[in-house]
Amino acid sequence: MSQLQASLDRIAAEMAAAPRRGRVADYIPELACVDPGQFAIAVCLADGTECVAGDADTAFSIQSVSKVFTLAMALGRLGDQLWARVGREPSGLAFNSILQLEHERGIPRNPFINAGAIVVTDALLSGHAPREMLGDYLRFLRLAADDEAIHINEAVARSETETGHRNFALAHELAAHRNLDHPPEHALGAYFHQCAAEMTCRQLARAGRFLLNAPGLPRLLSPARVRRINALMMTCGHYDGSGDFAFRVGLPGKSGVGGGIIAIAPARAAIAVWSPGLNPQGNSQLGTLAIEKLARAMRWSAFG
Ligand code: GLN
Repeated sequence: MSQLQASLDRIAAEMAAAPRRGRVADYIPELACVDPGQFAIAVCLADGTECVAGDADTAFSIQSVSKVFTLAMALGRLGDQLWARVGREPSGLAFNSILQLEHERGIPRNPFINAGAIVVTDALLSGHAPREMLGDYLRFLRLAADDEAIHINEAVARSETETGHRNFALAHELAAHRNLDHPPEHALGAYFHQCAAEMTCRQLARAGRFLLNAPGLPRLLSPARVRRINALMMTCGHYDGSGDFAFRVGLPGKSGVGGGIIAIAPARAAIAVWSPGLNPQGNSQLGTLAIEKLARAMRWSAFG
């Protein structure tokens, strides 16, 4: 058995026995009933080798991990124009903070906090009906993961539409500052649906391969833009927990409140983990620990 597979098996066994698993997100009612006992990890190496452990073929709500894919689509489509509408600095605040957006006059700090991601989705809607934009998004995910089975969970999207008051507040604040081209309910309809995409860890690790910048892998974006997305994942991918993630793991990563995380060992491996319990910053508690252990075992770091 490879060292990688042995590490994954050991980590999955440790995580299965972990007593403190964090808290499942319950502000989206449909996510509140997910069993916190689940854990999965998957790695896709640059040469195409896949290794998995735990519930790696169980689909979960990718939530904010989706923001990596929509950012890649928006940069591919609009290029650097996007940066007139959204910044590139860590926020140091919760992913759904309203405070900062008002203070900074409707320009979100970065594309990974909710306000920034809503702007990115609004930009993708330009010239497209929401249904078309979501069709393009699903095509992107399926192409990246090389898997046609990826779909959006309508019940999760509906659940968030009914309860997403903070996101409505953010979208209206963006509109008040003329940083939204579409009505808030259209931009949010698309945003809630993108977050409600379901993927397994195996699919997510495969979909992350385009972020490796390694030869022979699907090229969905220029290498220069891939580097920049990785830089933003490192500095902003875990909200006000980004510094801690960079310190402990040393790899660019992006989390979602469904408990998923994607992390990139540049030129080497795309890693996906899932454990639904979250830490106070809204990032998967055991997912973070598992990637930390894997990066240490494999000596993977963005810092040499
Ligand atoms: N759909 C979620 C929200 O907007 C995504 C947040 C997250 O995953 N951090 O609140």
